[in-house]
Amino acid sequence: MLINIDLHYHSGYSGGVGQINLTDFIETGPKKGINVFGTGDCLHELWLENLKNQLVETQKDSGIFQLEKQKSVKFILQTELIFTCSLKNKRKSAHIVFLFPNFESISNTIRLFELWNVKNTIGRPFVVCEDNEEVGNKISEILNINESIEFIPAHIMTPEGVFGSKNPINYLEDFFGGITDEIHVVETGLSADPIILGLIPELDKIGLISNSDAHSTWLNRCGREFTSLELNKDQFTYFEIIESFRSNSIIRTCEFNPTEGKFFLSGHRAGKERHNNDYCVYSPKFTPKDKKCPICGKKLTIGVLERALELSKIQGANRQYGFLPPKQQKFIHMVPLIEILAYYYQIKSPKSKKIINIYNKIVNLLGNECEMWFLDNSILEEKLSQEISPEIINLIKEIKNGNFSFSPIGFDGTYGKLVVGKKIDVFNVNFCSKKLFQKKLI
Ligand SMILES: [Zn+2]
Ligand SMILES: [Zn+2]
Repeated sequence: MLINIDLHYHSGYSGGVGQINLTDFIETGPKKGINVFGTGDCLHELWLENLKNQLVETQKDSGIFQLEKQKSVKFILQTELIFTCSLKNKRKSAHIVFLFPNFESISNTIRLFELWNVKNTIGRPFVVCEDNEEVGNKISEILNINESIEFIPAHIMTPEGVFGSKNPINYLEDFFGGITDEIHVVETGLSADPIILGLIPELDKIGLISNSDAHSTWLNRCGREFTSLELNKDQFTYFEIIESFRSNSIIRTCEFNPTEGKFFLSGHRAGKERHNNDYCVYSPKFTPKDKKCPICGKKLTIGVLERALELSKIQGANRQYGFLPPKQQKFIHMVPLIEILAYYYQIKSPKSKKIINIYNKIVNLLGNECEMWFLDNSILEEKLSQEISPEIINLIKEIKNGNFSFSPIGFDGTYGKLVVGKKIDVFNVNFCSKKLFQKKLI
């Protein structure tokens, strides 16, 4: 049966605004339809203590954990690390998710960190390396602790990811050195999906997984992206999950809409230094030639779409957007239901009681939120019509049919804003709020 996994989280020790408690997943996991979560920050001394105190293994050596007497949600030991190295005299960095089969492999990794002088007093530790050879060697040393430890380049297209625009790396090997062949899957990240990653030839043979990369279990964060695998519902193990990655037998990824992601287009957001309320946002063909911001004069934050098209050229393919290399796995796009309801009621906070009540009603009728995306619209209507207003049902159907967009589309750290019934061409955005530079409204 299909198991939905969401393996990239952060505890309160990674900065950001969230504060996760493992018990919160018991509340949101079943509503969202997610079966397995990453624990986040499993190398952090205090969070690790907490994990050891609260989690019990489902069966001996299964590598799958749960809270005592709580079978509905499972956990995998997970952290994110930031590796940095020097490439052609420039510092490069990449975020990488690590998964561990047991607490022993975590203790051994912490011992390695002590030898390397890496601090595990921050949730997302930095591993500083001289060059890509050292990155490869250090990852290899971690993998040698246990052959089932898996490393996954995280949100690879966002500015902080390995292919991101902040410190451009053009080939995986430039960063990962001798360990490149051990990459079985990469994480799409919120601002990219299989269409964006289909532009990059080097990824043709690598599996894709999707995770929420969330700092909270709130309904618009938790399960906003996930991956589906075919596994035995009650007895699956950590090793079967890793084997699905290694044998490229992922069934599908369920993607946050990339145009809602915080880094889809290029630009500078309002509120930045010297910006006040002014902002600018560009599709790739409209980005100023010098890539500088017309408002503050500094380098623009180059979005995922622009960077992926650039990589396609650099890697010698020059593919058109929409090209999909033949892969077994499928994907869908989603918009968090709580955001759809917030749009309907024009309520800003997704924590409003009013929308949470409707949300709970809908997921009770459907089983979980994820079902909403897979049920045929007529069945969806049948299931909801007794208790949910026709206007809300129609809105959900309209979004499922793709009749919506985000305006502005996500850029420079800001999420896209949902608009239903209006289409925006992602290749035709050319906007600077300072009148002098304004060419076309989006
Ligand atoms: Zn990250
Ligand atoms: Zn600027």
